[in-house]
Amino acid sequence: MAQVPVAEGVFTWPSDAPQLIGSRCSACGIVTFPAQDSCPRCASTEMAEHLLARRGRLWAWTTQEFPPPSPPYDGPSGADFVPFGVGYVDVGEVKVEARLTESDAERLEHGMEMELVVVPFRSDADGNEVVTFAFQAVQ
Ligand SMILES: [Zn+2]
Repeated sequence: MAQVPVAEGVFTWPSDAPQLIGSRCSACGIVTFPAQDSCPRCASTEMAEHLLARRGRLWAWTTQEFPPPSPPYDGPSGADFVPFGVGYVDVGEVKVEARLTESDAERLEHGMEMELVVVPFRSDADGNEVVTFAFQAVQ
């Protein structure tokens, strides 16, 4: 079964140490994720691809107990849906909104160290395994 990323240009893949692909403004230095064509701070269009740190600290989170609205959500629904965590991870230059591998809010704490992983998300019509990024607690 082939593994295909949920979207192109979001994280480096295939990779043993995947990194999120953000952008950095050449004029003012602000880093964004996802990558943007123009700077949200100074409106410069001099945005260069910028790989983010693989580790960060959990900043805020919640749990998704039911399937999000579709579209844009195209993951498992109905009986196949499994609750998942969603949070912001501060990777130093930017806070990244991401899925968390931990869905039990009791096991998450502010400031805990998190690492980027790539996890199965769903299967597509061609039988490929679609993978997405998530953060998991560093053991
Ligand atoms: Zn800028």
